Amino acid sequence: MDLDRLLATLRDVVGAAHVVTDPSVTEGQVVDWSGRFRGATPAVVRPADTPQVAAVVAACNEARQTVVAQGGNTGLVGGGVPLHGELLVDLRRLDALAPVDRRAGQVTAQAGVTIGALQAHARAAGWAYGIDLGARDSATVGGTIATNAGGVHVVRYGPTRRQVVGIEAVLADGRIISRLEGLEKDNTGDDLAGLVCGSEGTLAIVTAARLRLVPLPPNAATALLAFDAVDDALDAVGELRRSLDSLQAVELFFADGLDLVCEQLALPSPFDAPHTAFVLVEVAVANDPVGLLASACARLGGVADTVVADDTRRRHLLWRYREGHPEAINRLGAPHKLDVTLPASAMGEFVATVGARVADVAPHARTWLFGHAADGNLHVNLTGLDPDDETADDAVLRFVADLRGSISAEHGIGTAKRRWLPLVRSPAEIETMRAIKRALDPRGILNPHVLFPSVAATSTPADAAGG
Ligand SMILES: Cc1cc2nc3c(=O)[nH]c(=O)nc-3n(C[C@H](O)[C@H](O)[C@H](O)COP(=O)(O)OP(=O)(O)OC[C@H]3O[C@@H](n4cnc5c(N)ncnc54)[C@H](O)[C@@H]3O)c2cc1C
Repeated sequence: MDLDRLLATLRDVVGAAHVVTDPSVTEGQVVDWSGRFRGATPAVVRPADTPQVAAVVAACNEARQTVVAQGGNTGLVGGGVPLHGELLVDLRRLDALAPVDRRAGQVTAQAGVTIGALQAHARAAGWAYGIDLGARDSATVGGTIATNAGGVHVVRYGPTRRQVVGIEAVLADGRIISRLEGLEKDNTGDDLAGLVCGSEGTLAIVTAARLRLVPLPPNAATALLAFDAVDDALDAVGELRRSLDSLQAVELFFADGLDLVCEQLALPSPFDAPHTAFVLVEVAVANDPVGLLASACARLGGVADTVVADDTRRRHLLWRYREGHPEAINRLGAPHKLDVTLPASAMGEFVATVGARVADVAPHARTWLFGHAADGNLHVNLTGLDPDDETADDAVLRFVADLRGSISAEHGIGTAKRRWLPLVRSPAEIETMRAIKRALDPRGILNPHVLFPSVAATSTPADAAGG
């Protein structure tokens, strides 16, 4: 089937208004949030429901047309934009939310529902959704499942995979699989929802999910702690995890990032004096969260200064210092965004030396660090680099692998990190993942250019990672 015939079929399925081919209209959807990854597409197709998604995918499979699923387009690894001329399937019209099942503590949400809308819906019923992230008002249920998103509450509730009870999804040939009954116990073979979670749109297109909710956190308090030594900040993270079972978030950032956020977002400095490292900590508990937080912080060593907030406005401001990092860094030009996990024992060495390793290979680059400290997850942002210059990325990711960390904590592999996958996944693991991909998508139409390194790279990891 040629492209014109395929587009005619797709217009029959979703209506002509929802097959958009005008590049001036699709422009915002072919470039990623960071501005680093830009592609082109023959069309953005906007199905309204699961049968339409199934018919669209079936027609593309028949025509051997590659597709990329897109939700909020907040992914940071170039996985949700059509970098090789794929057709874009925009899931955002699938935005229905069923009433909260109060007995089960679950809700069924369609793929295009934003995390912010899901949170508000759960809250109105006296529940909460365990995932929260800076991109909440754009990132979707489908996109967060496809990337197994983490965010700021992983320390308490785990990543997206832990919230998913079941999914409905469209396979590459257009068949629909659906397990939305919400059975907490269902040992009847392979966990297909778990398989799709984190598969970055390569195995199926998620159309809906049955999601576990968590009790609405009671009163919350937030503290920003300043340290003059990074080691003291890292020790504090461990001690906070040990001593506070009501911990919701423990975030980490550094003096240069804080200064940049204050300058770019016109925020007042939170402290009178300069400090080296900052830990943002939040607890949620029924009685006296401020007292609990204050006494836990008083037991920590090396705290140079503290700001505590328990009202929404001041808590929001403390969070701006952390969540403002991506926006402030983006204003310096499209960054290379790396997102790594480190063993707790290696975090100090990494923080102390990664900047110098980058400077060795890319003297004009600047290295910015911030992240979800309780999970050992640091976002390494590099500015001052050409979009295609991966020398510094290579140095950082090799360093992470040497320290036995992960090259992707929560953003996924996408196109940005596929060549480095063999640093952290064995040939046997990659071949197993490929076999699953071949079985579910034999024609390779679903997001075929993400996740996997080239075949040569898989068989010779050392060469490939250096290539
Ligand atoms: C300011 C900011 C803060 C962020 N903070 C965090 C954070 O704390 N934690 C974190 O984990 N991430 C974070 N991210 C990254 C991003 O928000 C997540 O990766 C999110 O899960 C992407 O959701 P999305 O709907 O925007 O997906 P998209 O960007 O549209 O797509 C991402 C991937 O999922 C696939 N996909 C999308 N929808 C579907 C679907 N329905 N079915 C199958 N595949 C699909 C795409 O093909 C692509 O591979 C942040 C991003 C920004 C911009």
